[in-house]
Amino acid sequence: MRCVYLLVLSLFASAVCTAQTLRFTQPVLGEIGKDVFLVNHVDHDTASDGIRNYACKVYTYDGHDGTDFVIPSFRHMDSGVTVVAAASGKVIAVVDSLYDRNKLSIKENGFGNYIALQHAEGYVSYYAHIRKNSALVRVGQHVASGQPIALVGSSGNSSDPHLHFELWRRVDPFAGQCGDVTSLWSDQHDISGEHAVVDHDITTWPPTLDTLRERPPHVSLVDTTASTITAWSVHNGIDANDVISIAWYMPSGAKWFDYSYTCPTTTNFMYWWSYIDYSRATMPAGTWTAVTSLNGTPVCRDTFTLATVVSVEPNADQPRELVAMSGDYEVYSMSGQHLMLPLHALPDGSYFLRYMQNPEPVQVVIRDGIVFGIGSWSGHRD
Ligand SMILES: [Zn+2]
Repeated sequence: MRCVYLLVLSLFASAVCTAQTLRFTQPVLGEIGKDVFLVNHVDHDTASDGIRNYACKVYTYDGHDGTDFVIPSFRHMDSGVTVVAAASGKVIAVVDSLYDRNKLSIKENGFGNYIALQHAEGYVSYYAHIRKNSALVRVGQHVASGQPIALVGSSGNSSDPHLHFELWRRVDPFAGQCGDVTSLWSDQHDISGEHAVVDHDITTWPPTLDTLRERPPHVSLVDTTASTITAWSVHNGIDANDVISIAWYMPSGAKWFDYSYTCPTTTNFMYWWSYIDYSRATMPAGTWTAVTSLNGTPVCRDTFTLATVVSVEPNADQPRELVAMSGDYEVYSMSGQHLMLPLHALPDGSYFLRYMQNPEPVQVVIRDGIVFGIGSWSGHRD
């Protein structure tokens, strides 16, 4: 009644009456910065090819209309991470029949599986890329705020398992210097730009992005059947020109090898890994440690135990290729010159490899005939 009364008084009163009161809660269960990572926000730079999130940062990509809540891996996805209604509302769309392990970032695939909720005040929320057959609601049903509605998946255009949360009347729920004054979240929480290690481990599985996104089983004891040993980590809040380095320490505690990598882009989600071509390496038995540092400060430490002394000389007649990285590759110098020599014939130094199935060059270092590989992938687009 009071509202109606004010409405007839003045335009100002009208504004008071229609002030937004609806607030939204986090649509994925889990702790931000531990279980869930906000990787891409809404792009507020609608006038150009540039990008700008609500806080005037680059944590978005051109034309992105939602917020990406990324979970650490496909293994986490398989274990079941719950999507909940961000506010009470009515279900107006449910699609959950599509394949949910899409890693190819095919733009045309769009939302993939999704649920849409109609809320008060004209808002519609979309929960995209949800897991196949995971919808817990049907069209026409009313849901309460916080009610489980599906599981996080990776259907549609989705390089990593995540929830793309999109709010219409095309709004960004986050408030900030380059966004709205008032947050639509009941509790806005974001750690974009703050460095955090999402996950890290040692593996003897093939060191490819796909393997790591699936999360290979933890390996603590490495035996002579391993062809590579990889230390990998995933990072939130990486800035362009940050330096990630890795140092491998022998059982004696002495440093065996170290390597530094300058990050090319600012990103909230970056895989980084370093592997040893174990078949070529002479490594003493015992417990080894791989220490990963960011700008000189250690951020994660992984240990593994070599079961036996391994001493395998590379055989020039039957060169052992990098077993893990199957497929043909071309070798380039650091200055970009195409080298017409196989890997085993190259002198010690740093090189780029370009694989047929992966256009992103991979850096390797050869020292004493041992190949040390370096890989990185940053982004997560969808
Ligand atoms: Zn998205």
